[in-house]
Amino acid sequence: MKLRKLMWLALIVCFVFPTNTKVSAKFADVPPIHSSYEDVKYMFEKGILDFGDTDIVTRAEVIGYIARSVGLDGTPKNTRFKDVSIKNKYSGYIHSAFEAGIVNGFSDDTFRPNEEVTRGHAAVFIARAFDLPHGQHVVIKDVSEGDLEYTAVQQLYALDITKGYGDGTFRPNNSLTRAHLITFLARTLQYLEKIADPLLTVETLRPITAFDESQYNGQARITFSYDDGFISNYLNSVPLHVKYDIPATFNIIAGNVYSGNERYMDSKQVWVTHNLGFEIASHTLSHRSLTELSDEEIHEEFIESKFILEDLVGKISTLTVPNSLYDERVRNIATEYFDGVRVFSRQLITEENYDPYWMTSYVTLNTTSFSNIKDWIDRAVADKAWLIIMLHGVTDTAEGEYEITPYLLDQVLQYVDQLGKEKLLPVSTSDGITLMNR
Ligand SMILES: [Zn+2]
Repeated sequence: MKLRKLMWLALIVCFVFPTNTKVSAKFADVPPIHSSYEDVKYMFEKGILDFGDTDIVTRAEVIGYIARSVGLDGTPKNTRFKDVSIKNKYSGYIHSAFEAGIVNGFSDDTFRPNEEVTRGHAAVFIARAFDLPHGQHVVIKDVSEGDLEYTAVQQLYALDITKGYGDGTFRPNNSLTRAHLITFLARTLQYLEKIADPLLTVETLRPITAFDESQYNGQARITFSYDDGFISNYLNSVPLHVKYDIPATFNIIAGNVYSGNERYMDSKQVWVTHNLGFEIASHTLSHRSLTELSDEEIHEEFIESKFILEDLVGKISTLTVPNSLYDERVRNIATEYFDGVRVFSRQLITEENYDPYWMTSYVTLNTTSFSNIKDWIDRAVADKAWLIIMLHGVTDTAEGEYEITPYLLDQVLQYVDQLGKEKLLPVSTSDGITLMNR
């Protein structure tokens, strides 16, 4: 994945040809009103296009487009396929795409360069070429588990590379049109550009805007509360929160900070996160289930975690409980050390039900969709309530049950940003408590 990302990045950078040719003049069959126009323009500007004049594309052409998009060598050469010789202008791309595992050809050693391509096969080629991550599951009427193209089509939907047809179908057996191919490729490159952006700038981020109490006038609030201190939060969540200037709370398992375990942020990364303006909170010392510990052990979890984290970043004022296990006994001890405790329980926080030592939150899973999260947000806005979202790892593949993709997080933050602070004020957990106490 990383290598491929670098490859296309190099391509994006190198292929922005200086050109004054008007897209509309060159591609008279794609007037600006056409829904693919922006995508075609984008592709043209990236130097990936050479338009033929038929509407349906051949296998050779499709592989040509895809191979150029990922930056494969197109120098014509003899291939392993008996029907593609060096005289075929796509022979280099076909050879390179075969070597890269993007296309296999047929069992009779033919490639059938002039045959049409189904939409389903095109999805498979694209998913392979760009090594696309798995996203949240989508229901598609005419592509079901077990179909050859199932995984690839799911990936394309999850990343918004296709929206399918209005009737809920993808029509995998229809022939691929040139306009659709270009749309798929343009959206793929735009997706990759989007997710690569924060990774490139992670070391040069600027702090988020400091909390300003005067922005609160009784509107809804939202808190992004990340448990465990995963390295993927440092690499993926922090840059996205900076991008939208939206605060977050990172709840750190203090015992991991100096452990050398590469799955978690180390002391330097926790400090950088704090320095960018984010709240660092305690997720205990060792992540043991607090309800199963003795009073003495619970005290130790709190004291030690605060000692380690406060030494690093200053005052630690909130706690999130490991494994969502919490009771009155744990709560009583927590009141001695923290201003508030976030637990799990799908409920918005209102003036009526607010209890700083029992702050409820919604959890995201790898099956959670944007519309699920949008529902929570819309309800909070309508009720002028406080929504806390509990998140964990943010990874390209979202393989873990509690993980989500950077793409989904970007969508959510963008939505919060669009709503505006007057309707929905993003706050850290401790700032949310401050507002409740006013
Ligand atoms: Zn945890």
